[in-house]
Amino acid sequence: MGVTAVVGANWGDEGKGKITDVLAAEADYVVRYQGGSNAGHTIINEYGKFALHMIPSGVFYPGVTNVIGPGTALNLNDFLQEREELHLRGVSDPNLKISDRAQVVMPYHLLFDALEEERLGDRRFGSTKKGIAPFYADKFLKLGIQVADLYAEKRLTQRVEAALTAKNVLLQHLYGKPTIAVDEVVAALQRDAEQIKPYVCDTTPLLHDAIDRGQHLVVEGQLGALRDPDHGIYPHSTSSSTLAGYASVGAGLPPYAIDRVVAVTKAYSSCAGEGLFVTELHGEEAAELRERGGDAGEYGVTTGRPRRMGWFDAVATRYGCRLQGATEVALTNLDVLGYRKEIPICTAYKVDGVTVREFPVTAVLERAKPVWETLPGWSCDISRARRFEELPTEAQEYVLYIERQIGVPIRMISVGPMREQLIHRG
Ligand code: GDP
Repeated sequence: MGVTAVVGANWGDEGKGKITDVLAAEADYVVRYQGGSNAGHTIINEYGKFALHMIPSGVFYPGVTNVIGPGTALNLNDFLQEREELHLRGVSDPNLKISDRAQVVMPYHLLFDALEEERLGDRRFGSTKKGIAPFYADKFLKLGIQVADLYAEKRLTQRVEAALTAKNVLLQHLYGKPTIAVDEVVAALQRDAEQIKPYVCDTTPLLHDAIDRGQHLVVEGQLGALRDPDHGIYPHSTSSSTLAGYASVGAGLPPYAIDRVVAVTKAYSSCAGEGLFVTELHGEEAAELRERGGDAGEYGVTTGRPRRMGWFDAVATRYGCRLQGATEVALTNLDVLGYRKEIPICTAYKVDGVTVREFPVTAVLERAKPVWETLPGWSCDISRARRFEELPTEAQEYVLYIERQIGVPIRMISVGPMREQLIHRG
């Protein structure tokens, strides 16, 4: 059955949670391979509405094994809280596995994230303050703590000591804050470690054996292509790769096993946090789209911040699909546009008077202005459509226009936040 990647074509919040939830119905494994609890996936099903940050989106199906892979940033508190919430809301005993190679987000990562944003003031990155940048910085400085270290006390103490030496100097002399004691950090980690112990294992043989048996894996990306540190809107990117290709690294899979890449994109644009966003709207127009968007307005699942809103950006999405290696696209939130008589789409950028169709590097992108085409709207509710032919002609034309612009077949069209509000096409 192979491996299906569900990934974002834009800035994140494209509706990947819903699409993963739908595809998980036929999966044996759902795997998180990058990022931590800094983004939230909204899932609405028979148990209610959930915002999953750390736990994979397959937990609502008893037959699915949910894996937190080696490339993730494991926030123990958030994991335990989410597991508890699932339990309290009737989702009994999800099948969870945590890689013993995953690294742990430490309390000092959260602290440094907040202190650094505060120090930067106007130049801040708009971090979700979940410790992600300090976490990945430590990983590549070789100062990270692997899950397996939590069960080896001497090693854990030495690793925390090594990580805190320079940090305590910074705390004292750069930020003017109290230093952190090694033993307090170690004791807190050990308490949480006991609670996650039943889930910890070497996930690599687990996933390879599953592939060899012909089982079906869904790997679930967080954020979107434009937040990728190498290819996105650096420096307003995240700290781990958001691309489907990275799933092979972050989950520990053979690259050739990923044979289906579903890039998710909204029928308009939304962007949480800082960074260049060429089709951004302001004022009334943005406010109206924000209030009508998503399942209850477009507000960040992790931070509650109002999302920045814009019309569909074909330049950014074409690039996002290309980076992801998309074999198909899932277009979400089409129902939201039912209030419009006309819908603008950005088909190119103008940079210094020159028309540009390739998504430029940040230094050039900051001079880019959108080139608009306007399509007729359908001015009605489409949330009950279940077949492409049931959509009004204008809505069909809108989808086909986007498909031509991005050059990837749109195989799923989502017309509402619920599982069943989905049109399969082709
Ligand atoms: P993710 O992080 O990519 O999973 O996306 P988020 O959960 O942050 O944001 C997507 C938002 O759109 C959530 O509020 C979803 O409930 C909502 N949503 C997903 N698909 C649809 C859709 O087709 N129509 C509407 N109206 N809302 C949708």
